[in-house]
Amino acid sequence: MGTNTQRFRTVEPFIWELSAQGRVGASVPEADVPEYPLPGEVPLRTDLPLPEVSELEVVRHFTRLSRLNYSVDTHMYPLGSCTMKYNPKVNDTAASLPGFSEAHPLLPEDLCQGSLELLYQLQTALERLSGFAAVSLQPAAGAHGELTGVLMIRAYHLDRGDTKRTRILIPDSAHGTNPASVSMAGFTAEQIPSDKRGNVDLTILRERCDETVAGLMITNPNTLGLFEENIEEVTAIVHQAGGLVYGDGANFNALLGYLKPADVGIDVMHFNLHKTFSTPHGGGGPGAGPVGVTARLEPYLPGPIVRAAGREAEQLEGWEAGLITQKRQGPQRNARDSRYTLFYPEKSIGRVKAFYGNFGVLVRAFAYILQMGSNGLRAVAEHAVLNANYLKHLIGKRYRIPYDRPCMHEFVVTGDVAPGIHTMDVAKRLLDYGFHPPTVYFPLIVKEALMIESTETESRQTLEAFAEALLQIAEEAASSPDLLHEAPHYTPVGRLDEVRAARDPILNRRQTEKLEGTR
Ligand SMILES: *Cc1c(COP(=O)(O)O)cnc(C)c1O
Repeated sequence: MGTNTQRFRTVEPFIWELSAQGRVGASVPEADVPEYPLPGEVPLRTDLPLPEVSELEVVRHFTRLSRLNYSVDTHMYPLGSCTMKYNPKVNDTAASLPGFSEAHPLLPEDLCQGSLELLYQLQTALERLSGFAAVSLQPAAGAHGELTGVLMIRAYHLDRGDTKRTRILIPDSAHGTNPASVSMAGFTAEQIPSDKRGNVDLTILRERCDETVAGLMITNPNTLGLFEENIEEVTAIVHQAGGLVYGDGANFNALLGYLKPADVGIDVMHFNLHKTFSTPHGGGGPGAGPVGVTARLEPYLPGPIVRAAGREAEQLEGWEAGLITQKRQGPQRNARDSRYTLFYPEKSIGRVKAFYGNFGVLVRAFAYILQMGSNGLRAVAEHAVLNANYLKHLIGKRYRIPYDRPCMHEFVVTGDVAPGIHTMDVAKRLLDYGFHPPTVYFPLIVKEALMIESTETESRQTLEAFAEALLQIAEEAASSPDLLHEAPHYTPVGRLDEVRAARDPILNRRQTEKLEGTR
């Protein structure tokens, strides 16, 4: 097994190996003023061993590196729970319109009515899709939305003088961010086991619900890709005990147009715009995790929120009535009548993000919603669920399905397809077939889990090619297991020491050399 110091297996040279003394990539004109030495003590390094290369070599170096990237624009990305769907390019065109991209965040309201209208309409669209009374677009990610939501639950109980509630219940099929958000907000996270069908165990839930429970955090569909069959009973049990229900909305892609979370008793939920609404995941870069709430939590929402006043609000009725229509209804707007203002709800938990959240991401999500329209969004859920069930059927011929009932947008199988073969071996071998592996070893309640999410944007041919690769790997696992143990064979680097690569990353050549020297 290699280590994270391993060189590319293809013969790509390090840029330092291309270095030749005196070679340059820039030409600076002769100075036409006299030279002066820098004054006093200047912390200039005399020794800065940068490679000396031409412009062309630099361009080739970085272009070559960029081609080592795996992305949804080049390949299928079946990462369960992450919804790596295609991001339509027109979203970027919309976000780069100068009226949006060059709007200064400190502009007075009167000079950015268009941007505020966009935010207002996005809030409205999310409300309409989820059934919530109000939405704040502030949080920057799903996990950030979770923290925001739990802080609102906290504010709600404290506001009522209900100070005994210190526990938040979380099913064992939840995402790891849930207990983290709960702890950050000052609560104790407590696990609720799933039953044999993958639902929340109702008997245990009842036992655990009392006057010290602040709420429950539930993901539906859960991380097994299964719809929580008793969702209304679950929320009712928590409400009867005086708790509130947080819905982790990361899997909302599966429900669009079919289920409004507020209708089944969810009090607050985040949306992952970078999952459900096709904005880029951005390699950990800007995301958006707006939160929606029912009326009783509305006063606690983080601000600022956009509201519409006067005639503009009336006109928007037409737009809202159709949920999302592609054309504006009603007569031409009179600019002087339009009025969008920013406000903080009366008991707001405050700001959770600078300015208006990640505005460019919000523009992209809104562009996507307009392109799809209400029927298109419904079709997203239909095709996401259909694709996942088709793929599950194909793969289920050889891979074990621990909770075998119709799935929603994703499903979980196990990678122990032959004796001595583990999920990691299957995942690494998939790289040789040109596919990004699915999520592995998650959810934690399934040993050797492979969690697969196909998304609605993959064609039948791609799904079949992916299934074919997994089935062939299962054959190889039985006939030549070492092929899997030693995989990947065709990638630029072999197996990495992943823990060490994350904890102790080697980010420059000198660190590599030092390590190579010690081996
Ligand atoms: C992705 C995800 C999250 C966290 O969302 P981020 O935007 O990555 O912070 C939370 N819960 C579930 C179920 C998820 O899939």
